[in-house]
Amino acid sequence: ELILNRQFFVNVIKDMAELVEKEKDHLTKLDSDIGDGDHGVNLSIGFRETMKQLELINSQAPDISSFLKKVGMILLGKVGGSSGPLYGGFFIKAGADVQGKDEVTFEELIGMIENGVNSILQRGKAQVGDKTMVDAFVPGLNVLKDSTDLKPIERFAAFVEQMKKGAESTIPLVAKKGRAMRLGERSVGHKDPGAESSWMLMEVILNNLKK
Ligand code: ADP
Ligand code: MG
Ligand code: MG
Repeated sequence: ELILNRQFFVNVIKDMAELVEKEKDHLTKLDSDIGDGDHGVNLSIGFRETMKQLELINSQAPDISSFLKKVGMILLGKVGGSSGPLYGGFFIKAGADVQGKDEVTFEELIGMIENGVNSILQRGKAQVGDKTMVDAFVPGLNVLKDSTDLKPIERFAAFVEQMKKGAESTIPLVAKKGRAMRLGERSVGHKDPGAESSWMLMEVILNNLKK
């Protein structure tokens, strides 16, 4: 059975921070097409601050739950704009059901992601089709929950693959939430930046599962 310890989650956060630096310009470019051009910058500010505090919060956190909660609090406080509270809430809620645990099963990881996605839905109140990160997360999560016939890593890969398709599916949509909403029909033909960053961040988890 696949068991994920606290170090797994620490490594994931480190790799997410690295990814954000690598993809900063790409994400910012997407956001300059239909938003205010700061999505990559916002995530970079949040993950840089998380990296500054990472060793401290890891040493202070008694379990995976509090570690992720602290990561989420930093993102929520530091990432400007709408994606900060959404991703911050994702990590806070992802840890909510694993209190007292220093390792979790793969099934528990799925539950953590489901809780995180539910937090995004509750906070942002976007639906599939509104041209947001929800268009990647929700169909992805459905695949993750349903593909019980697959082995853990294949199952997680199917999740990320579906999220990637979900991000592509935002291109022809008219934005109904967030800043892009103001563009109306002019948002058509552009990929939503948050949908793009969300599958990329989840792919970091996949890459760590493969290690
Ligand atoms: P801001 O738009 O405030 O500048 P960012 O650029 O960091 O913040 O993030 C923009 C992304 O946030 C969008 O591409 C979209 O995916 C996501 N987003 C915005 N509003 C919502 C919402 N209500 N629900 C879900 N996701 C949202
Ligand atoms: Mg923006
Ligand atoms: Mg902004």
